Amino acid sequence: MPSEDAPYRTNAPSEPERLRLFILGGGTAGWMTAAALSRLLPPAAYELVLVESDRIGTVGVGEATLPHIKVFNDRLGIDEADFMRQTGATIKLGIEFVGWDLPGGRYLHPFGTFGEPWAGVDFQHHWARARLAGKPVGSLQDYSYAAALCRAGAFELPAEDRKSIRSTYAYAYHFDAGLYADYLRRWATARGVRRIEGEIVSVGKRPETGHVETLTLRSGAVLAGDFFIDCSGFRSLLVGDEMGVPWQDWSRWLPCDRALAVPTGRTAPLPPFTRATARKAGWTWRIPLQHRTGNGYVFSSQFASEEQAHDTLLRAIEGPALAEPRLLRFAAGRREKAWAGNCVAIGLSAGFLEPLESTSIFLIQSAAMDLATLMPVPGRVADPRLAAEFNRRNAIHYDRIRDFLVLHYIANRRTGEPLWDALRDQEPPDSLADKIALFRAAAQTPDYELGLFSRDSWLAVFEGQGILPEGYGRLADAVPADELDRRMAALRARIAENAAGVGSHADFIAGHCGADDRQAVPA
Ligand SMILES: Cc1cc2nc3c(=O)[nH]c(=O)nc-3n(C[C@H](O)[C@H](O)[C@H](O)COP(=O)(O)OP(=O)(O)OC[C@H]3O[C@@H](n4cnc5c(N)ncnc54)[C@H](O)[C@@H]3O)c2cc1C
Repeated sequence: MPSEDAPYRTNAPSEPERLRLFILGGGTAGWMTAAALSRLLPPAAYELVLVESDRIGTVGVGEATLPHIKVFNDRLGIDEADFMRQTGATIKLGIEFVGWDLPGGRYLHPFGTFGEPWAGVDFQHHWARARLAGKPVGSLQDYSYAAALCRAGAFELPAEDRKSIRSTYAYAYHFDAGLYADYLRRWATARGVRRIEGEIVSVGKRPETGHVETLTLRSGAVLAGDFFIDCSGFRSLLVGDEMGVPWQDWSRWLPCDRALAVPTGRTAPLPPFTRATARKAGWTWRIPLQHRTGNGYVFSSQFASEEQAHDTLLRAIEGPALAEPRLLRFAAGRREKAWAGNCVAIGLSAGFLEPLESTSIFLIQSAAMDLATLMPVPGRVADPRLAAEFNRRNAIHYDRIRDFLVLHYIANRRTGEPLWDALRDQEPPDSLADKIALFRAAAQTPDYELGLFSRDSWLAVFEGQGILPEGYGRLADAVPADELDRRMAALRARIAENAAGVGSHADFIAGHCGADDRQAVPA
């Protein structure tokens, strides 16, 4: 097995049957990609090398995830308790949105189902029917077991019996992004990925094709490869700078372009959810880890100065800041293509969507998996059909997430605040306008085969942002009205009773994967 420090052959040709893959960048994107490819590709056919610069470093944020990450870790064969212990991870059952519709209002986007289908008809149709008939059926939130666990600060692993209400949710993690990248680095280098530390200062291209051929380090070493994965972060060194792929700008819908991030001590009790609180010029996050809490303010520089944002963040946090707030700059959008020639962008080099729904790590995961599936073979590294399919999937992922994020902003009633007024007046993308109209008319939600988000996620945010159905699918009328009342009351009671018997999230963490001597500080 190669050691991390072993000298690398520079400029030597690849073995004829072995494709040499370079991953440029060692942030979350670089190491997730390296781990996935080293796990999935046959080692006899592919050689994997990752180049990263300690001097440049990584963005070092990205602490909240979606349940898909568990599928990724399981695919790698990562032991959950070990991974959670080493990354300071906690459980995430959803996101609590505070003040997004109206100041003071709150709702959960839980990682679980709302209700259950009756007579083969999705639950929201029954709920909409009962509501429209004037029945006191409450909020959709009352029909989510995951939401009940969030409110109780409770957690247990989902039941395996698919008929049990205790099986109707999934979970994700909050973790320390730097520790996760370190974890994957150890994992991937132990499985043959070679790591080179150094800064790339120039890129050599084949004049006849325009394809990337070499990376030159500041030390003068020249690295020759066949295929290049650009995980260089916002710099987008290969796909942006070298291949010149244009940027699609989405800032008219998502104008936040700055974030300030700051850690505080661990909160007690330990919530099993992320909190996103709307503020005058954006929103703040709170992400509870085992050993500390991640906090940040995502804001638009058109509506607040950095000094004002700094004050807002320090007033919003619970407990003293453990460091000076760190500023990050970005823009919402994506590269028109992520795969160009013999280069593929994964991570921030491919695009950026603000972390409101914790989607960036999911985008890395899906791109790494798509690349493994569509990986070119020696002699055909720039197959345009593979590139076109990768780009099609990648664009669908980004565009669908964009619509979901924009929904949180345009459907607000925070009148008198310039950012929120401007966004409410903004025309949504056509694809989002259609989804809102369909839900209003008939309680129908998008039904995607590929990409985020699922029915339950749309339901949570539609209702939470005050978009309510004015009709429903008439197949729901198959359930007699008096039976519908009885079933809805029984479901609410079943959720409440079951949730009341579950232990606390903090106890689960201590028993499952608690790290040593982690001090709790009062919230
Ligand atoms: C404020 C904020 C909050 C976020 N929160 C979340 C969240 O909660 N959940 C989520 O899923 N995502 C979140 N994200 C996104 C997440 O942080 C990123 O998707 C993730 O960290 C991946 O980053 P990356 O690896 O693409 O880039 P980076 O971390 O920037 O890594 C880039 C790598 O490229 C290397 N590099 C660059 N140039 C060179 C060079 N010339 N030579 C050699 N090496 C080079 C660097 O050394 C580094 O190793 C957040 C992002 C921001 C900005």
